[in-house]
Amino acid sequence: MSRIAYVNGRYLPLNRASVHIEDRGFQFADAVYEVIAARGGGLIDEDMHLKRLHRSLGELRIAAPMSDAALKLVMREVLRLNGIADGTLYLQVSRGSAPRDFPFPKSAKPSLVMVARRGRGPAAALIENGVGVITLPDIRWARPDIKSVALLPNALGKQRAKEAGAYEAWQIDRDGNVTEGTSSNAWIVTADGEVVTRRADNSILNGVTRLGLIGLLAREGLKLVERPFSVAEAKAAREAFLTSTTNFVLPVVSIDGTPVGNGYPGSIVRRLRQIYEEYIVAQEPAL
Ligand code: PMP
Repeated sequence: MSRIAYVNGRYLPLNRASVHIEDRGFQFADAVYEVIAARGGGLIDEDMHLKRLHRSLGELRIAAPMSDAALKLVMREVLRLNGIADGTLYLQVSRGSAPRDFPFPKSAKPSLVMVARRGRGPAAALIENGVGVITLPDIRWARPDIKSVALLPNALGKQRAKEAGAYEAWQIDRDGNVTEGTSSNAWIVTADGEVVTRRADNSILNGVTRLGLIGLLAREGLKLVERPFSVAEAKAAREAFLTSTTNFVLPVVSIDGTPVGNGYPGSIVRRLRQIYEEYIVAQEPAL
């Protein structure tokens, strides 16, 4: 089956799906996006993703391309046309296309594209054994809380991680604290069992997985502390992990080659992975 994309009102085979060369997403990264996990044909935490989409659009003063009800229909249609039950749905809204000029065009219409991809996240071995991260300076702009497609620093960081044989790069602010990964949020568990992640200020993307997991911690009797943590603290932490839509909860067992704890996924992260998976399953549509 050839893959089908949605582009501005049309469902087209991927090789015929295109946007205008003067699309501002292409020329200025003047666009925002969301990646939503699909399970059993349903979209996980769909409303939280749409809420964040509206926040990103609002911060950049881009108009919504259609109502949420219409977006939900189109997202499901893209999944259906691609025969995808389990995978990810990528959605991007740009300010539209107009002759290249920095100020906002007067009459551009936002452009909306969607593609879907099959897959159920990281390989079982990565979940079982955990992954390594490297650290590097956070060289992004000052508003990574907006989910814009200006992802060049993220791509450069992920490439550095890959070349170092690591799974992710944790970005470090000027105070030596971890902001977040290039495509995930960063967490540690302290010696006394507190679960620590950075507060969702302007320096990180407020992950939907992050928010979902936060909602589950109290039930487990785990204390959440939202505060910055340094690389040194992370290396000396009892456990570490990352969260994202494509990874859910993934143990981090080494940082810059230094093992975290005993170098194996700890009991808290394994428990959090399990309860997060249960939270996902509970959202799958009934057959
Ligand atoms: N931070 C960054 C920089 C990201 O790109 C992502 C993934 N889009 C996340 C965090 C995790 O967000 P979510 O849980 O919503 O996928």
